[in-house]
Amino acid sequence: MLPVVALVGRPNVGKSTLFNVLTSSRDALVADRPGVTRDRQYGVCRNVDRPYVVVDTGGLTDSRDFLARATVKQAVSAIDEAQLVLFIVDAKEGLLVDDHDVLQQIRRSGKPCILVLNKIDASTEAAAGAEFAALGMSAVLAVSAAHKRGIDALQAEIRSRL
Ligand code: GDP
Ligand code: MG
Repeated sequence: MLPVVALVGRPNVGKSTLFNVLTSSRDALVADRPGVTRDRQYGVCRNVDRPYVVVDTGGLTDSRDFLARATVKQAVSAIDEAQLVLFIVDAKEGLLVDDHDVLQQIRRSGKPCILVLNKIDASTEAAAGAEFAALGMSAVLAVSAAHKRGIDALQAEIRSRL
């Protein structure tokens, strides 16, 4: 059995984009804005020395209440089956209430977790340090899924935790 890594985060942070990078596919639908309903999606990251299963989570709909519920439900299911959780946030937008809700679910699970600051598109860009540091995560990686930056370092961190 391959280990399972879950991509968890609120809508639009870049989970599906990162899924496609990790699985070298275009299987996950990348959307410009919330509004797409999807189930969990599975892929395999093969181009590493220890392959693993990647689970993307979705749950976007047009109703905000349902969106919130569906997102949490998907996240919980994905976390349950994972050995490792990647908590993805949008470093450009900063932390929103929904991010804290997702993190609460992850912490409740007790699963190991890496904080992934996505959308750091240029090497000159830095995520709002204090804001993310306040989450108290031991593993924090900055990436740009769209530009495939920071992926090697992320893979190394994933490997060290599986
Ligand atoms: P998801 O809802 O979390 O799965 O997010 P998506 O992967 O669908 O991406 C949401 C939006 O963010 C899309 O318009 C992506 O093109 C964009 N996006 C994803 N990764 C990056 C990134 O590294 N940098 C920038 N600037 N945009 C990104
Ligand atoms: Mg998505």
